Amino acid sequence: MSAVWHPFFQHGTEPAPPRAISSAGAFIQTDRGPLLDGISSWWVVTHGHNQPEIVEAIRETAGRLDQVIFAGLTHAPAEELAEALVAMTPAGLDHVFYSDSGSTAVEVALKMALGYWRHEGDGRHRIAVIEDSYHGDTIGTMSVGERGVFNAAYDPLMFGVDRLPFPEGDGGATLAALEALAASGRMAAIILEPLVLGAGGMRMYSADVLAGLRAICDRHDVLMIADEVMTGWGRTGRLWACDHAGVAPDILCTSKGLTGGVVPLAATLASGRIFDAHRSTDRRRTFYHSSSYTANPIACAAALAQVRLWQARPMQARLDALAAMQADRLARLDGRFTNIRQCGTIAAADLVVPEGGYLSEVGPRMRAHCMARGVLLRPLGNTVYVLPPYCVTGADLDAAWGAVTSFQV
Ligand SMILES: *Cc1c(COP(=O)(O)O)cnc(C)c1O
Repeated sequence: MSAVWHPFFQHGTEPAPPRAISSAGAFIQTDRGPLLDGISSWWVVTHGHNQPEIVEAIRETAGRLDQVIFAGLTHAPAEELAEALVAMTPAGLDHVFYSDSGSTAVEVALKMALGYWRHEGDGRHRIAVIEDSYHGDTIGTMSVGERGVFNAAYDPLMFGVDRLPFPEGDGGATLAALEALAASGRMAAIILEPLVLGAGGMRMYSADVLAGLRAICDRHDVLMIADEVMTGWGRTGRLWACDHAGVAPDILCTSKGLTGGVVPLAATLASGRIFDAHRSTDRRRTFYHSSSYTANPIACAAALAQVRLWQARPMQARLDALAAMQADRLARLDGRFTNIRQCGTIAAADLVVPEGGYLSEVGPRMRAHCMARGVLLRPLGNTVYVLPPYCVTGADLDAAWGAVTSFQV
């Protein structure tokens, strides 16, 4: 028996997992054969596995500069990447703070928001969140995420937040709820996944709702934190989900696709207002946050190479073509599927299942069914989605959706 304790894996029921040997493009080679990576290895891989440009950047950097302390030292990969991120993100996000994962990027964002209000001498500290959101698995990020079976045991450690209903339709109820909370003058920030709630079941809402939330934040001086950890780097059909609404958050979190899905790295971008509240001759205003590997040069070089691919390749055309291919596959789904939906490259549908407690078994069964057909998918309950690397072909998508549609409930 292996000594490894796998994440989100029930060792009591699941068979030993396949062993990955190599990865390239849209495929992972395993000891049991090739697997089409239909979920971009949990939403991290953007262009494809093993992109030569990114691999070369890692190789070149590792040959001359490894981890160096980032408190009081700086280096070119971090500086150049920060400059590129500021140029590529919505206007006003001029300061880049590095960490290692989506969860830490969100923790940093929450701390920046609370620090901002404290340094402004304002007692605001409440955080608004959207029902069914996911922001990570640390205690702080679970606190701002949906509560349920995944985190019930840790409930005593979590802090309270103000929940808004998921934006159905025109999002009227959500906007009204935020308006009411914001008018209290106690809201420090709202944190949201723009346009697509990933782990919450690939639930989607409109760019108009996002713009509406921004307008309320502006009116009541509530900070907007956009968690673009999943939605960033083209997933929604634009570079950032916020771009669909022409909205600039006060704080933006990115990770997953930042390095193309090759090595861990995260960045939290903040507006000048947030940075300036921490910049002072008073040392108590220092942003006291760091992780040991902050701005690892090799990871920053990988990210910079990933960014250069956006500049060198016709990415918007690629995203548009992939979105059209996905739309075509969705249009062919039959009556066994409902809530068929798409946002850019992300396509999802709910499998119609008989009522009654059975539901929880459908996901793992469908996953095993697809795996046996050489396709890696991870349905969320009865929600099946394909979120592929951008290099997939139409034949790859046919294989992925073919595995889904050959499943019998
Ligand atoms: C995956 C995810 C996170 C957490 O990122 P990790 O790197 O797994 O810590 C946070 N927010 C969103 C929206 C995510 O999808």
